[in-house]
Amino acid sequence: MANLSNPFLQTDGKKPTCMEMLQSILDGVATPEQKVYFKQHMDHCMPCYKEYNLDMAIKELLQSKCCGGDCPEDLVAQIKAKIKSSAA
Ligand SMILES: [Zn+2]
Repeated sequence: MANLSNPFLQTDGKKPTCMEMLQSILDGVATPEQKVYFKQHMDHCMPCYKEYNLDMAIKELLQSKCCGGDCPEDLVAQIKAKIKSSAA
């Protein structure tokens, strides 16, 4: 693969894992460059694609069903864990 500059690359040169990239995106702390990079990454990384879409679906569901969009993060985590354990 070409050595594209990865906007997620840390200053110490450490390569971020899928999980770390995903977390930045989902936490909303990613820069526009990181978002673009991650979108391209998702196209050929099925775990990231699934995890991202699962998270987005849950967030959307919670926003439409409860408390006007201000949902506790641990509730999201709980639901995710449930979905994962039933899917496994
Ligand atoms: Zn990935």
